[in-house]
Amino acid sequence: MALERTFSIIKPDATERNLTGKINAMIEGAGLRIVAQKRIQMTRAQAEAFYAVHKARPFFGELVDFMISAPVVVQVLQGEGAVAKYREVMGATNPADAAEGTIRKACAKSIGENSVHGSDAAETAAVEIAQFFSGNEIVG
Ligand code: GDP
Repeated sequence: MALERTFSIIKPDATERNLTGKINAMIEGAGLRIVAQKRIQMTRAQAEAFYAVHKARPFFGELVDFMISAPVVVQVLQGEGAVAKYREVMGATNPADAAEGTIRKACAKSIGENSVHGSDAAETAAVEIAQFFSGNEIVG
């Protein structure tokens, strides 16, 4: 499998409960390397652009309000098959359906406040990484 990069967000429900370190330990424990990371306060425009694909969904407004409700930690993760591996480590969108040992099972509060984001494909990852990081901020 190829060395890949994926984009991750530790969401407001997790940063507010001081779970950044716990989530990072789970990421690193799964063999993924954190090659870029910063804590930011997302603007409404950034959150709307990031989740533009969900604009027509009934929960869009709620999702944007949530993502700007507190700081987030944006990250670039690197590893063999990083996109699929991180999706596995994150667990299902709804924590009620998430498998034991996943971040969402361990940390998420609800389907909306579900602690982490991870890209769904390598192409999406490249676009998402470019939204938050310049090349010289990523050190593999
Ligand atoms: P993901 O790839 O597992 O993050 O899931 P999706 O791409 O389907 O959804 C993106 C994000 O929208 C999720 O991680 C949730 O934060 C949020 N979301 C999805 N479904 C719902 C919902 O039914 N209600 C609310 N409030 N938020 C949702």
